[in-house]
Amino acid sequence: MGSYADFYRRSIEAPEAFWAEQARLIDWHRPPEQILDASRPPFARWFVGGQTNLCHNAVDRHLAQRAQQPALIAVSTETGAERTWSFRELHADVQAAAASLLALGVGRGDRVLIYMPMVGEAIVAMLACARIGAIHCVVFGGFASGSLASRIEDAEPRVVVSADAGSRGGKVIAYKPLLDEAIRLSRHKPAAVVLVDRGLAPMDREAGRDHLWAELMVRHQGAQVPCTWLEATDVSYTIYTSGTTGKPKGVQRDVGGYAVALAASMKHIFDGRAGETYFSTSDIGWVVGHSYIVYGPLIAGMATLCYEGLPTQGLDRQPDGGIWWQLVEKYRVSVMFSAPTAVRVLKKQDPALLKKYDLSSLRALFLAGEPLDEPTARWISDGLGVPIIDNYWQTESGWPILTLARGVEPQQPTRFGSPGVPMYGYRVKILHEATGEELTEPGQKGVLAIEGPTPPGFMQTVWRDDARFVDTYWKSVPGRSVYSTFDWGIRDAEGYYYILGRTDDVINVAGHRLGTREIEECIASHANVAEVAVVGVADALKGQVAMAFVVPRSGAAATDADAARALEGEILQLVSARLGALARPARVHCVTGLPKTRSGKLLRRAIQAVCERRDPGDLTTLDDPGTLQQVRALLGA
Ligand code: AMP
Repeated sequence: MGSYADFYRRSIEAPEAFWAEQARLIDWHRPPEQILDASRPPFARWFVGGQTNLCHNAVDRHLAQRAQQPALIAVSTETGAERTWSFRELHADVQAAAASLLALGVGRGDRVLIYMPMVGEAIVAMLACARIGAIHCVVFGGFASGSLASRIEDAEPRVVVSADAGSRGGKVIAYKPLLDEAIRLSRHKPAAVVLVDRGLAPMDREAGRDHLWAELMVRHQGAQVPCTWLEATDVSYTIYTSGTTGKPKGVQRDVGGYAVALAASMKHIFDGRAGETYFSTSDIGWVVGHSYIVYGPLIAGMATLCYEGLPTQGLDRQPDGGIWWQLVEKYRVSVMFSAPTAVRVLKKQDPALLKKYDLSSLRALFLAGEPLDEPTARWISDGLGVPIIDNYWQTESGWPILTLARGVEPQQPTRFGSPGVPMYGYRVKILHEATGEELTEPGQKGVLAIEGPTPPGFMQTVWRDDARFVDTYWKSVPGRSVYSTFDWGIRDAEGYYYILGRTDDVINVAGHRLGTREIEECIASHANVAEVAVVGVADALKGQVAMAFVVPRSGAAATDADAARALEGEILQLVSARLGALARPARVHCVTGLPKTRSGKLLRRAIQAVCERRDPGDLTTLDDPGTLQQVRALLGA
């Protein structure tokens, strides 16, 4: 172990030597011939010529030393189910699932869309895809049919793996009707659907298309399906994320670079060790779930805990607030990963809960997904007595961009309000948003950007849309070809970075990224909506919530409170049904006009400022001051 500064410097000055060394952390069927091919910027191809497999590195590789040790622990306080798979059992189930997919005609490069609650089978399905070289596209189970349909259409999956239902706080959410509706809406139709029947909701099955997971697994029990050796630069998966436009982007990732990046991060950042247990409270539908519920911990030879349920339950399914700590005690969790929002929910509980369980196995809690506010950080740090490590990254990066590398320099101090310093391999810059000039003085606010070539694990491109990848991410800072994170940032004199929110129309609700345009497009489809603006407004618990302002097409909604409330109800229902509860605005306000510039551009930032009771800034371009006045009056601001 040495100083992190030296480690970082090596990664920047001699990236190929640095990453060649990291590549030894995983198994290769054929070692890479070239560490980095950056001949066609901004595309970076890592470990060219190498052949490997994510499932081999996550499962098979550990059989020699830890076949009987736990690999996957699935706990649901919703159903009371609790099951542990050893590496050997996981190996067997993944092969049966892989054989099932092969029997349904899934081949290398075919897509399999996974729309599942947090059950062990979801992870088995992901690993089965990785094993045979199929590309998985996991869609968050909280999304509804409209969101699901657009993803099915873009991914064109041969097979969809789903379940009868998920459950949240005892409320069953039937997935099958949402899936059927999504398939109906989509121009692309999958050839087969595989369904895990949890006995939570009745399912209509379409003959010839729909299969039961349990039946397939019995049929293929004992199957031996060797890992398909993939090129390091082949595609492992796509995951959809929101941006400025209404159409979600399929973030595409490779095989070899991702495996190396995760193995390296488990060692250098998370300090997770083989034989221990890792617990991430995220969901497989998000990038954190891909990297640090599924692949990262398993590649490191750790057991991973997959939890379905609220943080405010006990293992006995009674309201408690102690479930996380109960699980830490029971499974001797050493590394934990969560989001600030979830901790803010816990903050409302009795702090004695933190002292009730034996947490001596826990070494650190990592938090990411949204800014970590100081009171939340202090509360959980005092309660747990372990380091709380903020880490900043994105779906696009696949692993942390800014944090502390505790595996390299354990004593590197944390700083409240800052996620930390650039991770090895990342050339992080603060740039002036209008001139592209680098801002080198401490405290100067600019766009947080990354200079290429991007490190292993970073997105390869946008699925089937290289032009969108280049235009969206690499051409947004004037005069420079750098990757824009679309976040504002500053750096202090010691090199610690601070994130100051998004530069685009993306909002962050409870650590989940949502595009305001997507919500606007959904609301605009209501027959009585002429115009709509959706903004993100600060919220004490969720970080941000969506707030909608609509101009009704006709009727009394803009002037009559009862009519406005009725329209609000219809719109909220529409958003829940199409996009999912997560995207549901906190309020829908009816107005007679929206604040716009004279050239017709919507002044979202001014609306947002008024909602947050801040100064809306320069309003010289505002066409009709009455519109903003109306927003003010509605909010009593
Ligand atoms: P996602 O791609 O859904 O993970 O969202 C990524 C976005 O979440 C980033 O661009 C930031 O705006 C925000 N974010 C993630 N982690 C942090 C963090 N530790 N501090 C502040 N913002 C964060």
